[in-house]
Amino acid sequence: MTAQWTELANGVLVRRYAELDLSVGLVTGDRSALVVDTRSDPVQGAELRAAVREVTRQPCTVVLTHAHFDHCLGTAAFLPATVWAHPRCRDDLARGGAAQHAEALTWSRAQRMPRDPALVPPVVPDHLVTEPVEVDLGGRRVLLTHPGLGHTDHDIAVWSPDTGVLFAGDLVEQGADPDFTDAYPLDWPTAVTELLRLSPRIVVPGHGDPVDATFVAAQRDDLATLADLCRAVLARDRDTADALSASPFDTSTTLAALTRLHPPDMETYRAY
Ligand SMILES: [Zn+2]
Repeated sequence: MTAQWTELANGVLVRRYAELDLSVGLVTGDRSALVVDTRSDPVQGAELRAAVREVTRQPCTVVLTHAHFDHCLGTAAFLPATVWAHPRCRDDLARGGAAQHAEALTWSRAQRMPRDPALVPPVVPDHLVTEPVEVDLGGRRVLLTHPGLGHTDHDIAVWSPDTGVLFAGDLVEQGADPDFTDAYPLDWPTAVTELLRLSPRIVVPGHGDPVDATFVAAQRDDLATLADLCRAVLARDRDTADALSASPFDTSTTLAALTRLHPPDMETYRAY
């Protein structure tokens, strides 16, 4: 599958990649364009930059939905540009990229890629989403918002109110189970409920095809079921085998969620 843009609404596009089943976004205004995520490395970022130029010659602003390698390591191709992210995403990327390199290495070896990925020093975001923020693209405003702990502790969603399109990052996943590697299983359903309060017409997941609010509500319900199972295991009302058999998700997904159940240090989250 060759990557291609699909226009979801006037000037709001998604670009789908076969690799990782990744979706990145583009919202164009009269003066500037907003790019949602930048792919896995500088070469892929340059491909995306060129693809954006085919759509618009306007200057780009970048927003990173979160600090997983496949969403944030292509940013250098867009510089100079304003780069938005959550403060904890900024902090993660400011650590130098070792964590992202480890993720990329795990993925590339699982895929039996011919070469290991190189260590990419990440671009550190310079604009922080500490509360919901409107970005004026000229004749069009978009909202950047952090709906709470979910897929990570720093997910940002991008809402286009005039078109009803929501870019949800990996808070929503189509075509595969949600990824709990760095997730907060007990909180994730609430974050998705926050997104649904926007009444989106189209939701673009970080991986997979665009979906509607009905799909997202069903996924939120599955996340809530899993959260309840996690609570039951924590309370010793259920054992792990019981939770695995009752889970709406695959065994590996459910185990990943259960693995995340060690009580987090909540002081970390109150720091911002
Ligand atoms: Zn992710």
